[in-house]
Amino acid sequence: MSWGPSARALYAERRRAKLCVQCGKPATGGVLCADHAAKNEQLRVKRYRARRAAGVCVTCESPTQGTAQCDWCLDARSFNPDRQARAS
Ligand SMILES: [Zn+2]
Ligand SMILES: [Zn+2]
Repeated sequence: MSWGPSARALYAERRRAKLCVQCGKPATGGVLCADHAAKNEQLRVKRYRARRAAGVCVTCESPTQGTAQCDWCLDARSFNPDRQARAS
């Protein structure tokens, strides 16, 4: 099946019906069934480990100083408007 307009419609329809967008089985939270959620998580962990092993940021693949994320991603994650307000 190719990702034409009909595939997109199917995706939207499954999302709306709370079915797994990959296979149409009941979704267990989010847009995926338990099987596909587990597969997705495995992929995520695999990619995380590969990036850690390569010594790059797990989010954007920039080189890091041995941390899981680069300075930029760490900053972006901890960013909040309050911090800006009390500039020290
Ligand atoms: Zn599924
Ligand atoms: Zn990064």
